[in-house]
Amino acid sequence: MTVPATHMAWPFFNDPHRDLATSAAAWVCTQTVETASVDETCREWVRRIGTAGFLRYCVPEKWGGALPELDSRSLCVLRETFAAHDGLADFAFAMQGLGSGAVTLGGSDALRDEWLPRVSRGEAIAAFALSEPEAGSDAVALQTRAERVAGGWRLNGAKTWISNGGIADFYCVFARTAPGESGSRGISGFFVRADSPGLTIGERIEVMSPHPLATISFTDCIVPEGALLGAESDGFALAMRTLDIFRVSVAAAATGFARRALDETLRQARSRKMFGSTLGEQPLAQAILGDMATDLDAAALLTYRAAWQRDTQPGRTTSVAAMAKMGATELAQKVIDRAVQLHGGRGVRVGEVVERLYRDIRALRIYEGATEVQRLLVGRETLKAHHLA
Ligand SMILES: Cc1cc2nc3c(=O)[nH]c(=O)nc-3n(C[C@H](O)[C@H](O)[C@H](O)COP(=O)(O)OP(=O)(O)OC[C@H]3O[C@@H](n4cnc5c(N)ncnc54)[C@H](O)[C@@H]3O)c2cc1C
Repeated sequence: MTVPATHMAWPFFNDPHRDLATSAAAWVCTQTVETASVDETCREWVRRIGTAGFLRYCVPEKWGGALPELDSRSLCVLRETFAAHDGLADFAFAMQGLGSGAVTLGGSDALRDEWLPRVSRGEAIAAFALSEPEAGSDAVALQTRAERVAGGWRLNGAKTWISNGGIADFYCVFARTAPGESGSRGISGFFVRADSPGLTIGERIEVMSPHPLATISFTDCIVPEGALLGAESDGFALAMRTLDIFRVSVAAAATGFARRALDETLRQARSRKMFGSTLGEQPLAQAILGDMATDLDAAALLTYRAAWQRDTQPGRTTSVAAMAKMGATELAQKVIDRAVQLHGGRGVRVGEVVERLYRDIRALRIYEGATEVQRLLVGRETLKAHHLA
């Protein structure tokens, strides 16, 4: 599989980004991971992507990373490339960044020195634990509590929908430390080793696009003083800063899925014989392919505009990141749906690439802020910008 990457000529990128796209595509297309379980497949992807050096883009240079700071365009280029090849390759890569992001941004030097180099080599698996059974889109409603005890903190509560739940070596957990406070105030972040007494993996959650996902419980789970991430009570802001970095990369993954769908459909259009010619000769199919190509470019433009702005322009990127997240995931869903349609019966056959993409894309419109949440954000930011103008 080679997906054309002509968009890498766009002015959002510099030569190192172009070289990265070329080397990642050349490497990943030689990789196939098939094991008996999704957990093992994921572990293997983390190990291989780490050994190949690409996980170094998930942490800063000081702790074994590739660049002085996390670079949105590099993260996006890698996610798009891996997603076009294999959804679990993308997942394994993305979770190392999202799962360790709060350590990078708020961990003590001791924590960063011990764990980030291992994350970048694929030797430790990371997870980000914010969502709870009664706190998803409304994340500030979280109820997990952390109270001070001699020498550390005691955690009680439950997190759910946690990617890498069950295979992670550590979890960045967000818990309420000031029970009197409501909303985003009084929440703190904690680094919790998977082998901490009191941490148990509850229900494993199966989803339409399989990957490791679980509910995690904390019952009098004690973590040391140094496990605090960032300042006490500053945890919600830390969680949002982490998501801010990685939200645009969700758009990039969606773009990768859509690019692969178009590529597969072009192949189908050229080879499928009908009405004395090919599918691709049918004017209506050409129009649909035109729509797909346009939506794909729109998704990619929103994605890389946001990543470029984050990397190069000082100031807030909330609005462009939210536009990219909702725009690219929604457009990619449409592209992939049309791809399934143009594949006919083959499109819904289990094992076909477009059938897998149809399942892979769906959750991206929900996690890290559902489309509706992004719409509200963009609306509010647009009103604010109009007021300031
Ligand atoms: C595959 C997958 C992986 C995940 N991985 C992680 C992870 O690693 N760590 C983690 O902490 N969480 C994770 N999540 C959780 C994810 O972030 C939540 O599912 C998401 O925030 C939505 O929360 P919810 O599922 O409780 O849905 P709800 O909050 O119940 O929302 C349901 C729907 O309501 C709509 N909605 C939301 N807000 C509004 C509004 N203001 N107005 C109108 N409609 C609205 C949206 O369509 C939304 O999808 C993951 C979820 C999935 C599906």
